[in-house]
Amino acid sequence: MKKIKTVRLFSNHTKKSLLLEKKLRRLLPKYGLIEDLQNYDLGIAIGGDGAFLRMLKKSSFNRQALYVGINTGTLGFAQEILPKNVESFLERISIGDYYQEEVTLLSIEIKTPYSISHFEAYNEITVREKELRTASLDLIIEGEILETFHGDGLLVSSSNGSTAYNLSLGGSIIYPSIEALEITPMAPLNSRSYRNILHSLIIPIELPITIKPQKERSDLLLSIDGENYRYQEVEEINVQVSKQPIKLVRLEENRFVRRIREKFLQD
Ligand code: NAP
Repeated sequence: MKKIKTVRLFSNHTKKSLLLEKKLRRLLPKYGLIEDLQNYDLGIAIGGDGAFLRMLKKSSFNRQALYVGINTGTLGFAQEILPKNVESFLERISIGDYYQEEVTLLSIEIKTPYSISHFEAYNEITVREKELRTASLDLIIEGEILETFHGDGLLVSSSNGSTAYNLSLGGSIIYPSIEALEITPMAPLNSRSYRNILHSLIIPIELPITIKPQKERSDLLLSIDGENYRYQEVEEINVQVSKQPIKLVRLEENRFVRRIREKFLQD
């Protein structure tokens, strides 16, 4: 792989992260690495998954760079490096001894009578009624209304996001090399009056998803990778996969199963 020469550090500013950031700055020259805020080969998030998500957003999902995380957070599912392995990590990236993993993002379009907004997301978007009342949403796939959903809301996850909020809502974990979109209901109503699909639905990325709120419930609270946005009079939300993936540094190949076991099952 390409030898990394320049890096940019994105820390979440906890005490532990700041100490590690300081240590990294001290070590960079030893491995011929330079900190560059503009033209960096590698963005390094110091913190947990939250820090990783904020790095991606702050750097506008930079397709020219690679990304990696050092876990000083609580879970750190997306974080590849442990703080104790920082020196060997720096050595390996400086000589190009690493793997590269391509990760697809969600591409989100929000249409109102007044605006069209675009976002990208690593994990997911959740669509809820603005005041967190019951949402009424048409879910459209293949140009057909699959259901008019009634409940807390709908979550659309990427494959990589499937281990995040999606998992807590009872959604399935998707192996990251499978390119898919997962739609997971959030507290769906289920009665004689309201019939909803109660489980998540996994569809191929060729099928874009449209969510249309019912007119009287069209003021929405959208959460995109944990950032909240309120929109009035939403006409529709379109979710598909971004054309260009981002690239992550991995030190080992195919570690997903081990990561699931270590992060979700072992003490
Ligand atoms: P946050 O505190 O930054 O994250 C909540 C938890 O989700 C943290 O434990 C975080 O790990 C973990 N997480 C984030 N992305 C993950 C991924 N791809 N795989 C596995 N775990 C992941 O919360 P936030 O700022 O509100 O939102 C950031 C993300 O957190 C959202 O995109 C959403 O997926 C997730 N979230 C989860 C829940 C839930 O499970 N009930 C609720 C809200 C948000 P770290 O501890 O390492 O940061």
